[in-house]
Amino acid sequence: MPSSLDRLGYAQSLLERHSAERSGPTPTLADTPDASLLLFCGDVPVLRMTEGGATCLLAPEDAARAGQPSPELFLGRVGGRPAFAGALPADAAALYRDDPAYRVLDARAVAVEGAVPAPEMGVLATAKSLLGWHARHGFCANCGNPTTLSCGGFRRDCGSCGTEHFPRTDPVVIMLVTNGDRCLLGRQARFAPGVYSCLAGFLEPGETIEDAVRRETFEEAGVRVGAVRYHLSQPWPFPSSLMIGCEGEAEGDALVLDRTELEDARWFTRDEVRQMLERRHPDGLMTPPPMAIANALVRSFAER
Ligand SMILES: [Zn+2]
Repeated sequence: MPSSLDRLGYAQSLLERHSAERSGPTPTLADTPDASLLLFCGDVPVLRMTEGGATCLLAPEDAARAGQPSPELFLGRVGGRPAFAGALPADAAALYRDDPAYRVLDARAVAVEGAVPAPEMGVLATAKSLLGWHARHGFCANCGNPTTLSCGGFRRDCGSCGTEHFPRTDPVVIMLVTNGDRCLLGRQARFAPGVYSCLAGFLEPGETIEDAVRRETFEEAGVRVGAVRYHLSQPWPFPSSLMIGCEGEAEGDALVLDRTELEDARWFTRDEVRQMLERRHPDGLMTPPPMAIANALVRSFAER
């Protein structure tokens, strides 16, 4: 029976990471016709329709109508065969959009819909984050001169000052704060109507995960948190976050909300969050969808 975590977006990956292969000359798309290609138009992936749905693992020939992807990144291997990520200009989407053999679908929608098999989602996350990093890091942060791609795309080198730049991953803590039989959920004004989620925030330099959970919860909701326990994590390629899912025990239940961050936040009973997960809350309140780590955190609390 599939676990509810099977719907957690980007958390499973078919990618066999081959860092040893990245140091010498890496395989190229042109030389490996049996390769898998994750193809993006701008930052939007192209999917190829299959019998049961769709796949984001395309073949090199799928790119032929649009010309040579650039950059071309060697990600590692999928099923023993080389896997690449390649970017086309955003307007190349028009070459695929009207062809029933393909779908051009925003990476977030791919996860919400479960449009490709779950184990492909992690490869998609790697490809999207890495392509996005190259698109934004053409120049050396140390001296300002142009940098060049190396190690198959897992590094950029500055020819002027010699600095090696590595792709970044930005840690974000996301926490379910509990107080006995209740948990704290909040909503931002940009959320869909009725959606309440876990509080979250970026880790700051020199900060532990536990302290980030405590700081963010106090800043946003005015609640002091004691014990913090790590639960699970999720790559979040918008553009390159890692969501670190935790649970924290509140030391009190009085709320002082930061209204610039939160439109509302309140305590929800276990019964109430069950209704929200099952979309049968009398006030129409709900949790984020199963692709989101907040759903997994709330679900583990609800099922306890
Ligand atoms: Zn430099």
